[in-house]
Amino acid sequence: MLQKVMDDLNKFYSKPIDVLEDGKSFIRLIEYIGDDWSVVQSARVSFGQGRKNDEEDTRLIRYLMLHDHMSPFEHIVFKFHVVCPLFVRSQWFRHRTWSYNEISRRYTSKNIQFYIPDRFRKQDLTNKQGSVFSEEINNDIARNTVIKQSELALNAYDVLLEMGIAREHARMVLPQNMYTEFYATVNLRNLLHFVKLRITPEAQWEIRQYAKAILDILEETVPICLDAFKEKYELK
Ligand SMILES: Cc1cc2nc3c(=O)[nH]c(=O)nc-3n(C[C@H](O)[C@H](O)[C@H](O)COP(=O)(O)OP(=O)(O)OC[C@H]3O[C@@H](n4cnc5c(N)ncnc54)[C@H](O)[C@@H]3O)c2cc1C
Repeated sequence: MLQKVMDDLNKFYSKPIDVLEDGKSFIRLIEYIGDDWSVVQSARVSFGQGRKNDEEDTRLIRYLMLHDHMSPFEHIVFKFHVVCPLFVRSQWFRHRTWSYNEISRRYTSKNIQFYIPDRFRKQDLTNKQGSVFSEEINNDIARNTVIKQSELALNAYDVLLEMGIAREHARMVLPQNMYTEFYATVNLRNLLHFVKLRITPEAQWEIRQYAKAILDILEETVPICLDAFKEKYELK
């Protein structure tokens, strides 16, 4: 009985998955509603039917995914807790079909952390939006430059606060690599849309790491839907 309670708790309050290189970021599935068979039930309600058997139901999921009959996938809902740099947050929040609540730097000046990568990328010469990891870059110098600049920014922020300037005003000196955290709720249809757009090489490396972590979460929660999605978009 106790084990079952523990299993249920672990299911709903799952462990954070580390995402970026510096170990300060994560994505954590807080809770979710539904499973693979919720898609089947929602789709078959059109005919007044429910589940049949694993084989036929799996075939139906693949058919729906392949032919873009996506509304049955809206009945599965996920709530995540995300810690990421501000520039990743900006990209993430462009996805308007999610619901968000974020930490506010108008209310708190505590626990400020910065994303300090171990490895840096240079501009991709063929893809204007892209970047590539390169042996030519001196990662130590780049890293120290980011650390120094982050410390300077934090110092300026503290000076402004000590002068009595409001948090909402003082935060203007905090840089793009500052970490933020938010809760985000989304249905499976829109989650897969996010993954499709943000896992490709055209998307920025940092947000791609979050998209990959989401794939791991989907593998645990909706493996049949995920398999159909991967097949459709050739992600296998
Ligand atoms: C690699 C990459 C590069 C990008 N570069 C830039 C850039 O340089 N500049 C920039 O500004 N943005 C950029 N974006 C953001 C991009 O334009 C989208 O805003 C973002 O990907 C969200 O996609 P979406 O609107 O499909 O998703 P969502 O907002 O989650 O919407 C999902 C779907 O709902 C429908 N929908 C939602 N809202 C509306 C609406 N108001 N009207 C009609 N249909 C709606 C659409 O069908 C949409 O596809 C980039 C995105 C990617 C992946």
